[in-house]
Amino acid sequence: MTFRFDNSYLRDLPGTYLRLDPAVAPAPKLLVLNRGLADDLGLDLTEADAANWLSGATVPAGAEPAALAYAGHQFGGFSPQLGDGRAHLLGEFRGPDGRRWDLQLKGSGRTPFSRGGDGKAAVGPMLREYLISEAMAALGAPTTRCLAVVATGENVLREAGSLPGAVVARVAASHIRVGTFQFFSARGEADKLAALMAYTIARHYPQAAAAEVPALALFDAVVARQARLIAQWMGLGFVHGVMNTDNMALSGETIDYGPCAFMDAYAPGTLFSSIDRQGRYAYGNQPAIMTWNLARLAETLLPFFDADEAKAVDLANERLAAIAGTYQRNWLQVMRLKLGLLGEDAGDGALIEGLLKAMVGADWTLTFRRLFDVPELRAWRAVWLARVEPGFEARIMAANPAVIPRNHRVEAALVAATADDMAPFEALLAAVRDPFGPEAGREGFVLPAPEGLAPYVTFCGT
Ligand code: AMP
Ligand code: MG
Repeated sequence: MTFRFDNSYLRDLPGTYLRLDPAVAPAPKLLVLNRGLADDLGLDLTEADAANWLSGATVPAGAEPAALAYAGHQFGGFSPQLGDGRAHLLGEFRGPDGRRWDLQLKGSGRTPFSRGGDGKAAVGPMLREYLISEAMAALGAPTTRCLAVVATGENVLREAGSLPGAVVARVAASHIRVGTFQFFSARGEADKLAALMAYTIARHYPQAAAAEVPALALFDAVVARQARLIAQWMGLGFVHGVMNTDNMALSGETIDYGPCAFMDAYAPGTLFSSIDRQGRYAYGNQPAIMTWNLARLAETLLPFFDADEAKAVDLANERLAAIAGTYQRNWLQVMRLKLGLLGEDAGDGALIEGLLKAMVGADWTLTFRRLFDVPELRAWRAVWLARVEPGFEARIMAANPAVIPRNHRVEAALVAATADDMAPFEALLAAVRDPFGPEAGREGFVLPAPEGLAPYVTFCGT
């Protein structure tokens, strides 16, 4: 088959990207191909085509590879020019339902946005993105997906030494980031910013086009999706790890799986990333960082909120003040589901907070499936049982996963894969794709790491 590319971003937004081909992988070897995703997207890929096209060895017909420009606040500091430094958008295609998807290669070589980097990626971090995004999709959180990981046949130099290189092929609703808006806003390129806004509305929020002020409708829609997404992360115990504004997608998908990880024992300060010394992106800070990032987006949209600057700022501030409440409603919804609660009760917030206080140090994932068995929860349980409606046992099991990608299992799978043994990765992948399935017979994927392991630390995939 061939892809039927239709590259609207390149067509509609000239001057926002640089056209250039990916690096040629010298000896591509397919490590993993996402057959289920390919089928869902109507892609009938042979393994040979996948290895060649999804590694950068050959550019498929109709692709127009490009590196996209974007800026971003990284750990709070503004970088006016980041951009795709190791990624190439191959093009866009439509799935069977007509939805438009980006197909991007990551680890595909240097671009003018690479700064000091080599543009490449190692097998471990690319498989990590594949695995964790598959888990997120199975857990019901909006996310980019991976179509394949292909080893390039060349090594990359990293702190850990010389490692086998790989390219991941990523499918995303788009790669428009808060940082994309920041790039053109910071450069004062009003026309490109306006075109980007119109494009984003048409692609992701078409109903906003008919609003009295489309920019406000766009912003409100992005807030709604982000509030829902981060609430889902919090329910899952997911720590993204680098919530820089360039890693926040306007589509509302989880994007850029770097040092992310799932929390084992519950503690609001949980963080895994080796470079986040201040704990800016710790588990409990994620909702506040979401709001901070959305404020950066609002700043770029001010000229479109109102021609009168003071009025535009007022409109933005009104909306920013409302985000915490929007998030809180989404979070309560997520947590009610986890506790098997139906309907809404004024006491639900206190009930949930009571559980969180009592469960500090307990396993985040399994505690919700064991609400009956944990002795420390006896006092809390009485309040919960008075609130909960019949049938809650089944609801709890359906809402709370048995299997998440446990850090010790992820690490072991990636170490093995780096040494050419894909079996542990495949077993783990199968387990995380069925998160709500039975516990029996899968204890090794269900249970947290044995006590006494060193604290888990993640590194950026650079
Ligand atoms: P990330 O940490 O993947 O979100 O990337 C942040 C920025 O650094 C983006 O502009 C990336 O393109 C760039 N970057 C990350 N790794 C590399 C690399 N190995 N070579 C070049 N640029 C990179
Ligand atoms: Mg990024």
